[in-house]
Amino acid sequence: MSMNHIGRSEAPLYGRYDTVIVGGGTAGSAAGISAATEGNRVLIVEKGLMLGGAATLALVTPMMDSYVPHERTFHLIEERLRREGIETRSQEMAEYVWSTPEAKADVLEDLFLEAGGEMLYDATLVDCDVVDGNIASILVLTSDGYRTIEAEQFVDASGDAWLSRLAGVEVDRGDDDGNNQMSSLRFEMGGIDVEAYRAYCLSLGDEFSPLVEGYFWESAMVVGKNFKLEPLFQQAVADGVLLPEDLVYYQCFSLPSRPGCLAFNCPHLSRLKNNADPEARSHAIVDGHRMIRRLVAFLTGYMPGFEHAYLLREASVLGVRESWRIRGLYQLTEDDYLARARFEDAVAKGDWYIDVHSATKGLVHMDKFEHGEYYEIPYRCLVNERIANMMTIGRCISTTFLVQASIRIQPTLIDMGHAAGVACARAHREGVALNAFSGTGLTTR
Ligand SMILES: Cc1cc2nc3c(=O)[nH]c(=O)nc-3n(C[C@H](O)[C@H](O)[C@H](O)COP(=O)(O)OP(=O)(O)OC[C@H]3O[C@@H](n4cnc5c(N)ncnc54)[C@H](O)[C@@H]3O)c2cc1C
Repeated sequence: MSMNHIGRSEAPLYGRYDTVIVGGGTAGSAAGISAATEGNRVLIVEKGLMLGGAATLALVTPMMDSYVPHERTFHLIEERLRREGIETRSQEMAEYVWSTPEAKADVLEDLFLEAGGEMLYDATLVDCDVVDGNIASILVLTSDGYRTIEAEQFVDASGDAWLSRLAGVEVDRGDDDGNNQMSSLRFEMGGIDVEAYRAYCLSLGDEFSPLVEGYFWESAMVVGKNFKLEPLFQQAVADGVLLPEDLVYYQCFSLPSRPGCLAFNCPHLSRLKNNADPEARSHAIVDGHRMIRRLVAFLTGYMPGFEHAYLLREASVLGVRESWRIRGLYQLTEDDYLARARFEDAVAKGDWYIDVHSATKGLVHMDKFEHGEYYEIPYRCLVNERIANMMTIGRCISTTFLVQASIRIQPTLIDMGHAAGVACARAHREGVALNAFSGTGLTTR
């Protein structure tokens, strides 16, 4: 006779761990790899079927260029991608790290499991039990109903601060007007004559598309910014093939080992202002499906090189740039960004510009750094006053809205995840609560 665990109250115990990480995205995977490597018994609970989160499930690739010294896990991931035959670098765009979503997911899974970590896929966090300022257990919905999971430490790497919010940690969402950055529904196309497309862009004198040779390439068009590709897009609007909202942002990147394929960083869902609103989000996803159909019709009908191209796939997860941010022991601000701030308890070095894709204020960019300049993110942005045994990592740490738009790129979040995992292991060995841990000595100096 099989047991039915449908009721929440009789949920059996799945297991007990040193560290449970909710969410196996960029930050959560890196934290899992380093915490397990340092000896903790670690479980990652992931609602999807692969590691990598937005980078894999939402098809977000490549990793943006970052000119800071990176931590061990970042190098491990890139080395393993190369060992698997992935060409991760282009000579001309040397600090981008390129991969396909699947190659990245496989490498993260291999590294985590080889380090001794344990995976619980296809399982969604739904609640937690807080006792005396600590999370005693979490409640997870699995393929066989609810399970509780206990741990000494919990890491919220859900991107949307799920565990933090369920545990009652204070959060902020969006900009001063409550609007989130624009989300995107990404897609990939195949069957493209990339060289013909590149030759066309270069024949227009398109300064954005880097004037490079070789396999890797990037191309873009943002309406009203004098991109050389804009007249072709406007022609398609005049012809009724595209709508004006399709021109908000267009960008595509090569995919290593996939000749003839490009990954698109669009369409931007400009009508979605509050991406936590379930109804508005669903409407926006429908918009996204229709926009992709129009973009594919436009590209195959108008763009040189796309004559025989086809839609390869659409992301099955919304590309959310920003949602919730916890209020931690420290909030990283624009002043810290501008001052290239340094902290004793640094967990990562950030150098991406303040890169806001706003539906209401356009693209907000602020004071780009010279290569080699950076600010640091302190450990105190990951922990909070309310819950002693929890850490929050990834794009939802304690920053202002504007600074979140800088810390959110994948290289910075891998370094942050790496340091977070090391911190979990040290705090565990020292018997110190995560929010009382000093956070010193976690990064390369
Ligand atoms: C459209 C778009 C384009 C971008 N472009 C680039 C780019 O070109 N280069 C770059 O470097 N960065 C880019 N970024 C930024 C970067 O990709 C993200 O900020 C980063 O991937 C976020 O990582 P994370 O670990 O914080 O969250 P995520 O990667 O979102 O990971 C969160 C994980 O938690 C899981 N999860 C969530 N809720 C639950 C739950 N309740 N139970 C269990 N699991 C759960 C999710 O399935 C997911 O795997 C882009 C982002 C977007 C959205």
